[in-house]
Amino acid sequence: MNALIQTDQAHAGCRPGCGACCIAPSITTPIPGMPNGKPAGVRCVQLDENNLCRLFGDTTRPAVCTRFTFDAALCGDKREDALAALTELEGATG
Ligand code: SF4
Repeated sequence: MNALIQTDQAHAGCRPGCGACCIAPSITTPIPGMPNGKPAGVRCVQLDENNLCRLFGDTTRPAVCTRFTFDAALCGDKREDALAALTELEGATG
């Protein structure tokens, strides 16, 4: 596991290995490996098997991804809470 990712995500309040933001929402800007972005509910190809971003700290990481931050109301107590809330939000706004 990448210590830099863990440190930064912990600092931001994110749960390392969550990845809900990389699955539930749609992303309309290009992602390396997904030139048209990704639809809601589709796992980003850059999300690794530990639910960590392979592009963290890389200049090719989409700008929108740098705005993913921990929000207690959305993220809840566990990964499943975050996925459910983000999926619902995407349905409400998408
Ligand atoms: S590029 Fe990284 S941070 Fe952005 S959605 Fe994909 S896995 Fe998540």
